[in-house]
Amino acid sequence: MWAEIAEQISQATKEKFSVEHRQPLGGGSINQAVCLIDRDRKFFVKTNAAAKVAMFEAEAIGLQQMYDTQTIRIPRPICWGVAGNSAYIAMEWIAFGGQQDWDLLARKLAAMHRITSTQGFGWQQQNTIGSTPQINTWTSDWVAFWLEHRLGYQLQLAKRRGFSCRIPDRQIFDAVPPLFENYQPQPSMVHGDLWGGNVAFAQGEPVIFDPALYFGDREVDLAMTELFGGFPSQFYQSYDRAFPLDAGYKQRKTLYNLYHILNHFNLFGGGYGQQASQTIEQICR
Ligand code: ADP
Repeated sequence: MWAEIAEQISQATKEKFSVEHRQPLGGGSINQAVCLIDRDRKFFVKTNAAAKVAMFEAEAIGLQQMYDTQTIRIPRPICWGVAGNSAYIAMEWIAFGGQQDWDLLARKLAAMHRITSTQGFGWQQQNTIGSTPQINTWTSDWVAFWLEHRLGYQLQLAKRRGFSCRIPDRQIFDAVPPLFENYQPQPSMVHGDLWGGNVAFAQGEPVIFDPALYFGDREVDLAMTELFGGFPSQFYQSYDRAFPLDAGYKQRKTLYNLYHILNHFNLFGGGYGQQASQTIEQICR
């Protein structure tokens, strides 16, 4: 498998690459990650079962689109496909470490969020959030998109997995439109899975990776940064200076994070079900 991947990397980069050393890496939640090394080049490679090749294809296309905006550093995708019994994605290796410039991260993220789609909310293809399918059917109305393809989709999956909540679906859905009474988001390019584990710094320069890219309300990215502990306060101050947030963000933040909490329940089960119920009650209060 590794020789096959090396051959694909050689073709894609038009320079002979052969694996001299293979360094397994920890840290990923979904895939196996490895650094492939020859005498003077390194590549970051993730592998999974062959059936997951569409997931890596969507990741590679998403990375390339974000890379092409030239707004924030993104690992450049090299190639993806099936090698042996595994699906893989290979991308530029970035040496993480050094100082953390949260102000610069905020300004660069804001610049990416200023990129908008003319096709509405969604994306050109489905991708995944964790390993859960993420539906991106182009939709002109953001609230309709959110209700059907984000909240509704995860809620349905959760019910199939045994999630129950004392508040009926109808009441949950009815609580959403009032949050958008005086607010019309733009379809911004969003990372889609922007928790702390998908942000790093390379000699001070912020890097974001492992996206679940689509065009949506930029508040979804800000909301997710706050879900597991939050980023340093400097990040939020700098973002708000670079691209001011609407006053209703704080209310919508809970709604946007419900998507990720339900997804965590769908991926990992356990206490996330209770957290989802509590979040639903908060939204419907
Ligand atoms: P998963 O899809 O399994 O969640 P990630 O894409 O988050 O995996 O990558 C796993 C880990 O590998 C990250 O936490 C990060 O530390 C490291 N990593 C990700 N991309 C690169 C890269 N391009 N170069 C070097 N290390 C990377």
